[in-house]
Amino acid sequence: TIGAIARDPAGNLAAATSTGGIVNKRMGRVGDSPIVGAGVYADNETCAVSATGFGEDFMRTVIAKTIADFIMMQGMEAVQATKAGYEYLTRKVSGRGGVIVIDAAGNCSSDFTTKKMVHGWIEKSGQTNCRF
Ligand code: ASP
Repeated sequence: TIGAIARDPAGNLAAATSTGGIVNKRMGRVGDSPIVGAGVYADNETCAVSATGFGEDFMRTVIAKTIADFIMMQGMEAVQATKAGYEYLTRKVSGRGGVIVIDAAGNCSSDFTTKKMVHGWIEKSGQTNCRF
């Protein structure tokens, strides 16, 4: 997967997720990447999310929208909502993969259950983070 999320100075959030699918996928499998709420989601009121990993796990938990719902309904910020989303993903389906998240205030976060997930961000126009 190549995933990207962004917030512009006016507060507009955007997410993009592209994928080649998974190894040995069945003919015609679509996966989670183009499914809004599963592998990709953006809403100016909450956050933008892009996911990578086993799409079936993300579809079963609607993980991108679930993370947004933690922000919307429980007033969480990106870091808390990502953690809550990952607890849910793990408990519910032993989910395999990761997400990147930016909230409406520009806070960034990530989590993953795989050994590593190469990713990075520039937070609030200054602080650079690269993680492996
Ligand atoms: N999530 C994608 C899929 O299940 C795989 C990926 O991470 O690119 O199709």
